[in-house]
Amino acid sequence: MHHHLNVDRRDVAGVPVSANPVFTRPGEASDFPRFEMPAQPSLPETAYQIVRDEMMLDGNARQNLATFVGTWMDDHANRLYLEAADKNMIDKDEYPQTAAIETRCWTILADLWNAPDPTSAIGTSTIGSSEAAMLGGLALKRRWAERRKADGGTVGTPNLIMSSAVQVCWEKFCNYFEIEPRYVPVTEEHPVLDGHDLASYVDENTIGVVAIMGVTYTGAYEPVTEIAAALDEVQSKTGLDIPIHIDGASGAAIAPFLQPDLDWDFRVPRVASINMSGHKYGLVYPGIGWVVWRDAALLPESLVFRVSYLGGNMPTFALNFSRPGAQVLLQYYQFLRLGFEGYRAVQQNCQDVATYLSSKIGAMKQFTLRSAGTDIPVFAWQLTPGHTDNWNLYHLSAQLREHGWLVPAYPLPDNLGDQIVQRIVVRNGLSHDLAANLIRDLRECVEYLDSLDGPMPAPRVTDAFHH
Ligand SMILES: *Cc1c(COP(=O)(O)O)cnc(C)c1O
Repeated sequence: MHHHLNVDRRDVAGVPVSANPVFTRPGEASDFPRFEMPAQPSLPETAYQIVRDEMMLDGNARQNLATFVGTWMDDHANRLYLEAADKNMIDKDEYPQTAAIETRCWTILADLWNAPDPTSAIGTSTIGSSEAAMLGGLALKRRWAERRKADGGTVGTPNLIMSSAVQVCWEKFCNYFEIEPRYVPVTEEHPVLDGHDLASYVDENTIGVVAIMGVTYTGAYEPVTEIAAALDEVQSKTGLDIPIHIDGASGAAIAPFLQPDLDWDFRVPRVASINMSGHKYGLVYPGIGWVVWRDAALLPESLVFRVSYLGGNMPTFALNFSRPGAQVLLQYYQFLRLGFEGYRAVQQNCQDVATYLSSKIGAMKQFTLRSAGTDIPVFAWQLTPGHTDNWNLYHLSAQLREHGWLVPAYPLPDNLGDQIVQRIVVRNGLSHDLAANLIRDLRECVEYLDSLDGPMPAPRVTDAFHH
């Protein structure tokens, strides 16, 4: 079984990494061992050229419709990035202004997410939503344990309730921190976590419920008010007061701008904390996430560590110690640069492109939409049942790949696991123009597949990193 991180390197171990001789000086090595550190230094130009050449083998980010993560920022952001590349977020002593800007950023988010009093909310930047989600989860766990101890109850195995369509970071959280995951299966009748039957999952060891704003499989929002109503009923019957954490990795940067009247955030009293990926629809390069608690009282003091800060000390709550500070400054740059109206315009444009694409794809007889991109600008479709046995969406994915497009196909979770869907994530940069090209290429691929007399050979199914 392939259960470790050991990638097979034997085949290429003897093949050197080579620089084009045009870029090396006479006498300088142009071949480097692949898995050993070179014995001697080389010129910066040579090392640069090699790394740059290797980078070219990566895909073209603009045609990557699989990822949620930002791949473009403007020239001023690029300049700032370069100027801030050395900043270490943990060094609050050295970089007090970066720390102050971090506080500004999460207070802005607390306000955007309708915290009753943003200045008494608390939050932090993280390396991404995974760390942010884990911090949110750890606060739930610690609050539950403190509650149980105060009530004189035994602290048994904590459990966390969530949809089986959660992003992998929640499976990790439960695994790493020894929490029993209680997955509510997705079904045709209940395609998202909607509070249905929730009471049967809750007990005195439930630390919280996760609601996802923008399920990665389909882009759908989970109805937070319905989940909260189900938990209100649990409380009135059992006295158990179960908090909600919102996984808003994508949606927490979409809903405030595109669905301002939707109650999903701190307007719902049961919502204790919210995470968001700054590097998704927060429009920053990878390496930044955020988590905010409605009120400082919801983050147990026993989880907070203090680091030195201008002779005093600064509270921190994080899994990492050192991490880049530049992304925090880039997030603030985007807040200033775009403002509410700028973010709204960017997100609206993504949504317009998503609904344009989904309407075109939904209109093709070969496909049936699973979602339309009207929540977050992400949508998924299936092959219309009965259309063909000759090809499936994995074949289509492979065909699109030949046109440069990365459009993953994958099965839905558990109960719906026999259903294969294909998904497009519309990010800033996927213009109407590119979208029109994509539709043209998609039609061409489908015509080709439909023209086959017999079944396509089984597709090579790669591990789809669709999360
Ligand atoms: C992307 C995503 C995550 C993980 O976020 P990272 O920033 O990549 O760590 C968690 N939950 C949801 C719903 C996501 O879409």
